[in-house]
Amino acid sequence: MENQMELPDAPQAVQGNFCSSEACGEPAVAEFDARRLCMEHFLVVCFQELEARNERLKSNADPETDSLRKFLNASVEQVQKLSECDRFTDSQTKSQLLEFLLRASQLSKRLRRSPRLSSTVPVWLRREDPSRTWEEETWTVTVSRHGAGLVCRHPVEAGGTVVLCRRDKGSRVQARVVYCRYDGDGRRQIGVELLDRDDFWD
Ligand SMILES: [Zn+2]
Repeated sequence: MENQMELPDAPQAVQGNFCSSEACGEPAVAEFDARRLCMEHFLVVCFQELEARNERLKSNADPETDSLRKFLNASVEQVQKLSECDRFTDSQTKSQLLEFLLRASQLSKRLRRSPRLSSTVPVWLRREDPSRTWEEETWTVTVSRHGAGLVCRHPVEAGGTVVLCRRDKGSRVQARVVYCRYDGDGRRQIGVELLDRDDFWD
């Protein structure tokens, strides 16, 4: 649910209000951090935030993945609407909006590529039921001593039993599926509880 932002629809919802930037007085068209802003100030803070986030991701400082995703979701949604809105037709504004969308999409691609190194472990995931046998190559999204979250392309139900086999070390463990949900990119993620050992991740 982390990707569902509770932001009002822009620009309609903020019509009739004014930019909260000091001494501005222009009509507000969007919201940033709960502040209503005019087009100019909105774009300024969006680009500033994008740059700052970009630098952090590049320098491998903690990218605060969740808050970065929230920022991208919220800003992209509003910018998208603004760019489709007939009120803002001047070419400089349009090109700034499009530039922002382009850079936000580059940043979100880079975010997806940067693995959570501490918790990304390549595994084979197997189902060994006589009636439903399958195997897929995947990786963990999170790990803990007694469990893991994994991307899984096959449908599985909570309570089902699977086998995890580390692709880097060959070790193997039985696990029970405790949840099954979809992440922000539409991939199925399952959470499993390890059943027969507790040193599987070292
Ligand atoms: Zn303003």
